[in-house]
Amino acid sequence: MVGAGPAGLAAAETAARLGAAVVILDENAAPGGQIWRGPSPEAAGLLDLARRAGARWFGGCTVFDADPEGRLWVTDVSGMQSTRIGFERLVLATGARERFLPFPGWTLPGVVGAGGLQALVKGGAGVEEQRVVVAGSGPLLLAVGAFLAEQGAEVACVCEQAPLGRLGRFISASPNLALGAARLRLALGSSPYRFGTWVAEACGRDRLESVVVTDGRRRWRERCDWLACGYGLVPNLELARLLGCKTKGDAVVTDSDLQTTIPGVFAAGEALGIGGVECALVEGSMAGSAAAGKAPSRELRERREGLRRASVRMADAFALRPEVLSLASPETILCRCEDVRIEQVEHARSYREAKLLTRLGMGPCQGRICGIASQTLFGWTPDRVRPPLIPVSVRCLGEEEE
Ligand SMILES: Cc1cc2nc3c(=O)[nH]c(=O)nc-3n(C[C@H](O)[C@H](O)[C@H](O)COP(=O)(O)OP(=O)(O)OC[C@H]3O[C@@H](n4cnc5c(N)ncnc54)[C@H](O)[C@@H]3O)c2cc1C
Repeated sequence: MVGAGPAGLAAAETAARLGAAVVILDENAAPGGQIWRGPSPEAAGLLDLARRAGARWFGGCTVFDADPEGRLWVTDVSGMQSTRIGFERLVLATGARERFLPFPGWTLPGVVGAGGLQALVKGGAGVEEQRVVVAGSGPLLLAVGAFLAEQGAEVACVCEQAPLGRLGRFISASPNLALGAARLRLALGSSPYRFGTWVAEACGRDRLESVVVTDGRRRWRERCDWLACGYGLVPNLELARLLGCKTKGDAVVTDSDLQTTIPGVFAAGEALGIGGVECALVEGSMAGSAAAGKAPSRELRERREGLRRASVRMADAFALRPEVLSLASPETILCRCEDVRIEQVEHARSYREAKLLTRLGMGPCQGRICGIASQTLFGWTPDRVRPPLIPVSVRCLGEEEE
């Protein structure tokens, strides 16, 4: 299993229980993925069940290369050592990351991802009495706003770019989600949740001091210490693409057993499109079962179908409005690692051409941020994925130790 979020842990527990010899790898030191980051009874419980069934867990291990002949190359956090691991069946449960879009001031210290600030706080950073604006799009904003309020932050407002009408229709067609959203709204307290608004600019001298918020008609300033801003989630597809698995849009293509187009390679959770934690758990169980040689049950298949239908409705409800795609000015930085500005690439016809003209996507994040941003802004298709997926020492590339 690559990934120890809900999908990977469910897959590991199921496959191990069915008698498969299971190894779980995750680049994070602790299991749980994004939603169960930090001490989590859910992650600990699932891992415990998987281990009792014989699964072995290795945290702090990033898969940076793989081939469909059944080999993975793994490095530790230092990126200085590597190990080769063989597999007969593989489950890709690599999850998702946030989509960041450039706008004036987005590189100021104090501007972070919505899930990014949540992860910092779960890792020990304090936000007590700090004023935070949460902005962008998607259900994560409400979850982050509620979490930060519970941690003692003063949440100035949550700005959701999607209009009220679209979200209202989605919520009224999804009673289960409505209940969860109502609980989070309650936890957010008296802080406003504003529909149809977005941050147009982040302002400050050396650090963030305020943001300019707009609803398209009026603009106003909100003083803040932090801007937690993300425009939804995008699946992590690099490893699937490296293996040669077919992808469509932002998702790995699978059959009804969740086997990808590469025989013996399965996928589950956000790698199949953004679906939420319940969907990740169901798909993890399905992929774990199929990888262990037992067809997933009809009950699981039916639950998955319902959850996937809801995720399509959710994607429509939170679709990005054109205004947020045109916030950046020609001088705005697009690639934060390599300081590439919008004006340097906006006339390129493809991501590849932009990379030939500049160092776009060639820094330490290897295009994880600017690649997604430029595809969203300019409609470019992703470039071919090549190893290593993360920067590693040259020595790692030649090591063959197993
Ligand atoms: C930043 C962020 C914050 C979120 N916060 C919330 C929240 O508060 N509430 C909520 O309901 N949902 C939240 N979500 C959504 C939630 O993560 C998903 O609904 C659910 O966790 C998906 O589970 P998963 O197992 O598919 O993926 P994830 O939980 O993302 O797990 C994927 C795992 O794969 C690992 N991985 C990826 N690539 C590699 C590699 N090459 N080598 C080794 N390991 C790898 C990652 O380290 C990660 O642990 C958040 C998502 C993100 C991106």
